[in-house]
Order: sequence, then structure tokens, then C-alpha cells
Amino acid sequence: MSRLDFRPIDAQLIPRFAGIRTFMRLPHVTDLDTIEVAAVGVPFDTGTSYRAGARFGPEAVRSASVLLRPFHPAFGIDLLDAVRTIDYGDLPIAPGDTEETYARIEEALEPLVRADVTPLVIGGDHSITLAELRALARRHGPLSLVQLDAHLDTWDSYFGQRYFHGTTFRRAVEEGLVDPACSVQAGVRGSLYQSSDLDVSRDLGFLVISSEELRALGPAAFATAVRNRVNGKPVFLSFDIDFIDPAYAPGTGTPEIAGFTTVEAVELIRALRGIPLVGADVVEISPAYDGNGQITALAGANILWEILALRAVRTIAP
Ligand code: MN
Ligand code: MN
Repeated sequence: MSRLDFRPIDAQLIPRFAGIRTFMRLPHVTDLDTIEVAAVGVPFDTGTSYRAGARFGPEAVRSASVLLRPFHPAFGIDLLDAVRTIDYGDLPIAPGDTEETYARIEEALEPLVRADVTPLVIGGDHSITLAELRALARRHGPLSLVQLDAHLDTWDSYFGQRYFHGTTFRRAVEEGLVDPACSVQAGVRGSLYQSSDLDVSRDLGFLVISSEELRALGPAAFATAVRNRVNGKPVFLSFDIDFIDPAYAPGTGTPEIAGFTTVEAVELIRALRGIPLVGADVVEISPAYDGNGQITALAGANILWEILALRAVRTIAP
């Protein structure tokens, strides 16, 4: 099959507001033969501690993504010429049962991982990332995690539960899915329970870059720090939409003020050009709390598009 088979529906023939919503209006395909990248929805939000609703993230992001075009001006490439990309649909989940959902996500991701398809997951709350990491680490070994998030998500438990959106990355270290010595958590900010809170992640071995430090570093120095840390290991990029300030992304579960603008987020991601990405997700988009114009879903769709660009640009210039 030619790459021309995997293009968005022509907006000059069928308008953008028509038809069934897929990411970028790409074909909804489940046959993975020749496919390189798949957008995948995981509509699960049982792991949230405050505002729920991220189960509606995938549909909102897909809906906001209809305006996305294939050519990336900053990288100078047509993303969809570079990588054959589809929308794989939503994975099966079990609302209310996190561990059963993990089992279903792992099983459903297995064919993609086996076929070396890069999954770009639309969450869902941040608890789902553990199941994604399990599926990918089985093929690649311990991954380098690059997490952009206002929170570290390395608590031991919440309400007595070990699997929750605030415990994901502690479990990932315990299970050997990520190598904290090759990983970065960036963007943490906001009120804490106590002064030692940030030590929880540092004691696990992560490089923690606070929001203030990240702002001082800027995109180029941040990217250098990430590259030094990653050191060639396969990378999983996890983008929690609350990394972005609630002025730009109010539709999320645990908003923290004094965050990054969408401009800054895009620049930080673009600076990571060249990292060996094997999977990514954009999580915690809760459309019920979104602002006028569905700005959070629009931000999420564009962030996923920027992450697709990171994957695509390696095919053109590894
Ligand atoms: Mn998070
Ligand atoms: Mn967060």
C-alpha cells in the first residue's frame, strides 16, 4: 500500500466538521501492516483524585484535532509522508477497576508494540501510563521517561490504593519499567504537603526540574539536559496537560497556577528533536472543565501533533 492511502480525508471534499472524528481525520485502521504510528484513545479516569472526567479526553482531543494539517513548518517536513499514521481507536477499559483496565490496556497494546508501531495515547488520567510502560518495556527493556507535569506522581498510595494517577511513576520504577537514572520529570510546581515532597522522586533516582528551574533553563538547555540524561535509551514522553497553565488549559483534574503557556510547551517539545521516541501520551484532559473554545482539548491535540513530529522527524533525519 502506498503512503497516499494513509492521509487525512480531503477537507476540500468533505468539510472538517463532518464525519466520524478520528485524530487528524486519519483513517481508523486496526490492521497494523506497514503502519508506523498510531493514535490510541484510553478513556479511563478511575485513577483521579479530584476532578474526574478525563474519560472524555479522547473524544475531545479527536474533535479538536480536525484542524491539524500534515506539514510541520518548524521541522520543514510533512509528518504523514514521514510516518504512516492511523487512528487505532480506543482500547478496552473497565471503568472503576484500575488493575483490570491495566491488564486490558497491556493486552490491547501488545500487537502495536510487537509490530513496532509507536503508540501516541490520548488519555485518560495519568494512571494509564503504567500499563503503557509495561507493554513497551517488555519489548525495549527499561525506558527513559521524559515527563512534563505539574506533579511528580510518585506517591506510594492514595486512599490506600497503590494504582492511582498520583502513584504511576513510583510503580514504574518498582516494576523496572523506567530507568530513573535516564529519566527527567520537569515542570513540578504548586503547593506541597511538606518541604520533603520533591525528595520522593529524587530519592527514586529521577532528575527533577521544577517549573522555576525549567523556565530559567529555557528550551535549548532543557533539551541538552534531557539528551544527557536519556543517553540513547528508548524514550517514553508523558505529557500531563496540567503542565500548561490553567489559563491555557483549564480542563484538567488537578490544575496548578503559574504554569507554562502553550507557546512555551511547544518550544520545549520541539527542542527535544532527535530523542529516540518509542511511545508517548497526553493525559488528564477533562473536557467538562474546559474553557470557551475547548482550549484544553485544542492544546492537547496540538501537543500530540508536536509529539508526532518528534517521531516523524527521526525518520527523515535520524
Ligand atoms: Mn500527572
Ligand atoms: Mn499533573
